[in-house]
Amino acid sequence: LAASLAHEINNPLQTVIGCLGLAEESIAEAQTDDDVETYVTMAHEELKRAARIVSRLRDLSRPTDPGQGVPTDVNEIIEDVLKVSRKDLKNNRIRVVQQLTTNLPQPVLVEDRLKQVLLNLVLNARDAMPNGGELALITEYNDVANEVVITVDDQGTGIPQDVIDQLFDPFFSTKTEGSGLGLFVSRNIVQEQGGRIEVESTVGQGATFKVHLPV
Ligand code: ADP
Repeated sequence: LAASLAHEINNPLQTVIGCLGLAEESIAEAQTDDDVETYVTMAHEELKRAARIVSRLRDLSRPTDPGQGVPTDVNEIIEDVLKVSRKDLKNNRIRVVQQLTTNLPQPVLVEDRLKQVLLNLVLNARDAMPNGGELALITEYNDVANEVVITVDDQGTGIPQDVIDQLFDPFFSTKTEGSGLGLFVSRNIVQEQGGRIEVESTVGQGATFKVHLPV
């Protein structure tokens, strides 16, 4: 992680150093303002990218105290996540379908951390459906494994097998503005709570993420 982080942050920093050098030259040579503006804008964008990476990493370096966990109503967490994302989903023509099992057993969790995971999955589903579609959120109890399972299912682009293999790697992203830390951080959080995340996908049909949480 440290090596990838150094690489990810070094790239934008080198670009910024280059841009500012060019801007300096333009100013010294009293060239047109356009040049300077282009370099400064580019440097600004790259610094924003570096800042995004650092802020995502801050989430990571905030390890959870296992003592903070409380028995949690997973359906309530889903409602909270939808509250903050519903408008955004609607603007992207995404219809939300909820199949929430009532009276689920309550796994011991740190609520904010689970919210962070589910929001990540919901926003990834949104990004995968640029032309809209259906997002299903399902909760179930598996009594054999004694775990609550949360399913986040979309009708998006789907994920090719070679991408699935790298999905949870830090900094792996196919998005121009992506940090590639969402799933990496999410998997860490779920594992901290003793659970796991699974993914299945058919290209062109969508992706299904399942979060398994032991009770
Ligand atoms: P980011 O969203 O910043 O790219 P993530 O770690 O959350 O980082 O996701 C990594 C990559 O996994 C995404 O760039 C995308 O290619 C792929 N991905 C994640 N969720 C989905 C999904 N629901 N459908 C299709 N691809 C997905």
